[in-house]
Amino acid sequence: MRDLMQHWEMRVSHILDHAAKYHGARPIISRSVEGPIETTNWAEIHKGAKKTAQALVRSGVKPGEAVGVMAWNTARHLKVWYGVSGAGAVLHTLNPRLSGEQLIYIINHAEDRMFLVDPDLAVVINAIAPHLATVKQFVILTDRAHMPEGILPGALCYEEWIGAEDGNFDWVEGSERDACGICYTSGTTGNPKGVVYTHRSNMLHAMAASAPDCLNLTSRDTIMPVVPLFHANGWSIAYTAPMNGAAMVMPGRDMTPAGIYEMLEMGVTITAAVPTIWLGMLQYLKAEKKTFSTLERVVIGGSSCPRAVIEAFQNNYGVRVFHAWGMTETSPLGTTSSFKPEVAGLAPEAQMDVQCMVGHPPFTVDLRITDDAGTELPWDGEAQGRLWIRGPGVVRRYLKAETDAARNDNWFDTGDVATIDANAYVRITDRSKDVIKSGGEWISSIDMENAAVAHPGVAEAAAIGVAHPKWDERPILVCVKAPGEDPDPAEIIELASKGLAKWQRPDDVVFLPELPHTATGKISKLHLRKKLEEMEYKLPEFR
Ligand code: ADP
Repeated sequence: MRDLMQHWEMRVSHILDHAAKYHGARPIISRSVEGPIETTNWAEIHKGAKKTAQALVRSGVKPGEAVGVMAWNTARHLKVWYGVSGAGAVLHTLNPRLSGEQLIYIINHAEDRMFLVDPDLAVVINAIAPHLATVKQFVILTDRAHMPEGILPGALCYEEWIGAEDGNFDWVEGSERDACGICYTSGTTGNPKGVVYTHRSNMLHAMAASAPDCLNLTSRDTIMPVVPLFHANGWSIAYTAPMNGAAMVMPGRDMTPAGIYEMLEMGVTITAAVPTIWLGMLQYLKAEKKTFSTLERVVIGGSSCPRAVIEAFQNNYGVRVFHAWGMTETSPLGTTSSFKPEVAGLAPEAQMDVQCMVGHPPFTVDLRITDDAGTELPWDGEAQGRLWIRGPGVVRRYLKAETDAARNDNWFDTGDVATIDANAYVRITDRSKDVIKSGGEWISSIDMENAAVAHPGVAEAAAIGVAHPKWDERPILVCVKAPGEDPDPAEIIELASKGLAKWQRPDDVVFLPELPHTATGKISKLHLRKKLEEMEYKLPEFR
């Protein structure tokens, strides 16, 4: 009786076929790299993707070869996204904010065979082109009229390149276990590491991420990924949207609050980005006295979302926040903070406490916390330990690594420190390398930062440990003042110490004009520590 149902390799091309056939007219509105806002639909994206795949095959790209793509979130990027995978090649998305050195390493390491780049980003690639050993052909993602002059000589013009094809093309077939896409982790220490998603891992992850307790995405929704498609698998939105027949709005390269707001007002019901984007947006809305006409939900992750952001969205604008946690290595969704019945009836303040946690995992994700010796810790919301994850969307081994990143039983060490409570809600307290250790105890930098930004005079805050001869480290807060504000450091310390024991309170507040950020918009504690060293910072008791 075995194996009597139909077999269907879980290739991501099925997703776009479905969207084109059953939701073909659903609009995709995007701010094009050339400037104007343009509207297309899933049927047209499907046609463009077929032509892209056909052109890639005609240009000699073979199944399993990597194709580099550096582009903003636009409709054209979606054609490329499915065109590359549909040609049997591997979609390697790149972040233009990485350093030239990192880009050279990543492109050579993945052995990108062709490279497709937006016209305004072509200069970035032009500067490093002589060092790209494997790239045989560059393509600039625009039409003839907008080809940049004197940059990447010999590059093809995308619209002409695919314009020569008729789109009459069958997706390249293969196994669902074939590589589908590559995304490198940012590698704050050491070289970036390549996570290679398979067609199967992307499909299973996208189905899990679409479920009602996660994105709850439907054909009635219009989703705008502000998070770039090159960041952590684009949070899977380029898969979940067509899978569910949702319409899309693509914001292009204008990441100013005004630019994002303009696009959100094009009928967007759900959007997603890291907290820094929303801090800027909330300031803009307040200053301009604007509100949202259609937005219902916002997914916030990538770093911890401050309570003040969740409160502002929900209380001032009626937009529900879904705090989420994940990483490049986990496709990326690990948990989302939707309400289970155990918490749905709580009073508003207690519900807000729940929303500040990162939530619970969907089916396909399995979690545990352990101490350093590997002993599992209780789910009491108190015990902090290493967070481990396993599942079909979690990395087993990094590209070209000699050993597995996950252990034999598939558990992968996330590098995050967390608690889990009796309802299986996870609270991320730190990254293990950012934990502040004082007198042998751990202090959560995330809790302290989130409390500090609740002060109206604080725009951004980072808690870091400063070496101390007796206590090992002592916590301090490094803050950026909100525009036109001059907050009292004592007030900030008071606020950030709420609920903390005396020894956990920050010893000092340092103001800087800005904080260093990583290429994915997170505060770079590594650079911040270096900066304080350069400033020859001393704790108050040693001045
Ligand atoms: P990168 O390091 O390149 O920005 P990732 O997106 O893979 O890429 O980073 C994953 C890390 O981001 C997690 O391990 C965790 O430390 C942090 N993170 C993600 N979401 C959250 C969240 N909601 N709260 C706290 N930290 C988060």
